Amino acid sequence: MYSPALTKELQKATSDLLKKSEKKLVADSELESLRDVLRFHEYRYYVLSDPLVSDFEYDMLYKELERLEAEFPNLRTADSPTQRVARGLTKDFPTVQHLVPMLSLENSYNAGDLLDWDRKARELTGLKELEYCVEPKFDGASISLIYDHDMLIRGATRGDGIEGDDVTVNIRQIRSVPLSARFSRYGIQQIEIRGEVLMNKSSFKKYNEQLIAQSLPPLANPRNAASGSLRIKDPAEVGRRNLEAFLYHVSYYTSVAGVKEVPGQGSLKPTVKKKSPGQDELLNTHSGSLQMLWDLGFRSPQKEKKLFRGIQAVMDYCAVFENQRDELPYEIDGLVIKVNEFALQDRLGMTTHHPRWAIAFKFKARQATSKLTKVEFQVGRTGSITPVAKIDPVLIGGVTVTSVSLFNEDVVNEKDLKIGDTVLVERAGDVIPYIVKPLSELRNGSEKKIIFPTHCPACGDKLIRSEEEAAWRCVNINCPAQVVERIIHFASKDAMDIRSLGDANVRKFYGLGYLKDIPGLYRLPYEQISALEGYGDKSVTNLQAAITKSKEQPVHRLIFALGIRYVGETTSKTLAHAIKDLNDFRKFSLEELLNLEDVGPKVAGSIYQFFRNEDNLRMLDSLKSYGLNFNNAGDASVHGSDLEGQTFLFTGTLAKLKRSEAEEMVEKNGGSILSGVSSKLNFLVVGEDAGSKLEKAKKIPTVRILTEDQFLQFIND
Ligand SMILES: [Zn+2]
Repeated sequence: MYSPALTKELQKATSDLLKKSEKKLVADSELESLRDVLRFHEYRYYVLSDPLVSDFEYDMLYKELERLEAEFPNLRTADSPTQRVARGLTKDFPTVQHLVPMLSLENSYNAGDLLDWDRKARELTGLKELEYCVEPKFDGASISLIYDHDMLIRGATRGDGIEGDDVTVNIRQIRSVPLSARFSRYGIQQIEIRGEVLMNKSSFKKYNEQLIAQSLPPLANPRNAASGSLRIKDPAEVGRRNLEAFLYHVSYYTSVAGVKEVPGQGSLKPTVKKKSPGQDELLNTHSGSLQMLWDLGFRSPQKEKKLFRGIQAVMDYCAVFENQRDELPYEIDGLVIKVNEFALQDRLGMTTHHPRWAIAFKFKARQATSKLTKVEFQVGRTGSITPVAKIDPVLIGGVTVTSVSLFNEDVVNEKDLKIGDTVLVERAGDVIPYIVKPLSELRNGSEKKIIFPTHCPACGDKLIRSEEEAAWRCVNINCPAQVVERIIHFASKDAMDIRSLGDANVRKFYGLGYLKDIPGLYRLPYEQISALEGYGDKSVTNLQAAITKSKEQPVHRLIFALGIRYVGETTSKTLAHAIKDLNDFRKFSLEELLNLEDVGPKVAGSIYQFFRNEDNLRMLDSLKSYGLNFNNAGDASVHGSDLEGQTFLFTGTLAKLKRSEAEEMVEKNGGSILSGVSSKLNFLVVGEDAGSKLEKAKKIPTVRILTEDQFLQFIND
């Protein structure tokens, strides 16, 4: 897309514009240059994942563009980077017809299926051996995009394959989809391309974390997250979900001369096939079309694809690749194998359901069926009642699953689950298992309705369900189940991380009366515990040491550990940045809380209430008296250097520290973390297999490069 020379030129333009934008001196004559520069950085960030400027620098240029376009509205263009943003809500998504039907692919599950498919393809083409292009089968939501005269004019969901929903406004929020692309260079006037929208694993995890913090049921898998996101009526919310798109198929195009070309669509093929002059050779093969899309700035599977001659090599590759699927940053559920040459695709044509020139090789399902034997109702730390299905043990993707959360009553009703049902259970990657559906055709009449309790299974109080909530809730603050869950949450890995405690010990100590509340952790009767069966001196010493050590945890972990409703890990960090001492929150007004980044009315209200509740304040006083770290400005447990004003970035795999730990060490000492290498960076810490960031940092004389050991030494100095 961008040659080294062009990259250099755009980098130079970037720094010139950055200098001018500081003083708001960019002239209207430089608008197009500003847009080019921003598009270039979008491409570096969202397509290559290799940014060349910091987020801050990008934002500065973006704001400058917004300012200029507001001043000169007639100079604004539809494909300007500012024009992704839509304001207001979408009323509805009109149904539109695809230019060429979006057929589904035939599925294969083993080598035999592939051999059969290859044999038929060879018979129909009369060739001894075919060339195949193999690429990942992305597990997301299919889309079709139309570009006309180089501009994105429509984006649609797959729908039933004939018609889909026009979701252009949401597609425009996906920053790896260019709003314009120079198809005219290839002699193309209008083109329909296909691809997949997906949410990568880390965005998915973060998104679910937010849902859980709001007591909402998490999304089942990244595929549902992607397809659900495409139909959201608030485009700004779509933008926040960090969707990505791979584009991997050209289904139709008209050349500038007006001749229709429909690669691989057999009977739809026009009778007159004439190549217009200048049309590129790339449009003779599938791999060529991927190259073209890549060259035009699309994220096509150009690097992921592999070319093979003959089916044996394809089968070998499938076997190897299946073992690597978990290493990808996104979910895939198989590989797609396509006959590479378009002329041969045309000759093979299609059946009524599938093209004959492509097949999907599906990986082993991460689904299994089992029997739902009973439903238990668990009381969470906020009192919400969660139905949990107990199923006959079943092995899915190497893990034995025995219980599956059903989240809430609405989910149970929607899926029409009954006790005794045979259910289809899915466990994708590291996602928590969930029930896809009951196999209702297998029912014999003995299945029983799932009955929700009216009273708390732990304390017997009457359960309440408010209008806007999906969960039934026990509102007894002293409900023993809630107290235990709050202590378990406090000690959990992402909170105070008291490793040798564990859920079972909390329940046991609570049952014995050794532990009544959170501060009770810091005054456990160790002598009595040592006397218990199964508690050796060593394990008690370890427990005591782990609990003592937890007092040093940074304050954002303590905030998260308190279990304030709607406050997840990310919000806890935001909150920690806003204070010097945890008790500062006692003085915060609602308005001050609302001014914090990403804190809405619901979250602010919850924090406000928490720090005005007498019981909570007493708990905080106790915790402080036991010496827990309430302080945000530096922490006694980490020695040394004052990193105030210093910026860090980590790249490659660290051997001793987790990335998050290392970043925390920097932040605890007053330093900050940057997202990319730029002249604003002071230190780059490199681990194993450091890539482009290291190369880039070497070119900037002011960046100091440290190994992990040097970093540790530096921070402990
Ligand atoms: Zn209760």
